[in-house]
Amino acid sequence: MAVPKKRVTSSRRDMRRSHHALTTTQSLECPNCGELKLPHHVCGACGYYDGREVVEPASPV
Ligand SMILES: [Zn+2]
Repeated sequence: MAVPKKRVTSSRRDMRRSHHALTTTQSLECPNCGELKLPHHVCGACGYYDGREVVEPASPV
């Protein structure tokens, strides 16, 4: 089993973890229907992308 050669100090450990914070996901309104959608993704509500319908909209259940 691999064993650490040196103890990682709390300072070093915390410096490593300084990059671990999650960022909030971006979202914007669909220009076609106004639903919130992810950038560079087909709108889940109306199926539009780049001003035209590319997939069938998900049917409401
Ligand atoms: Zn839409």
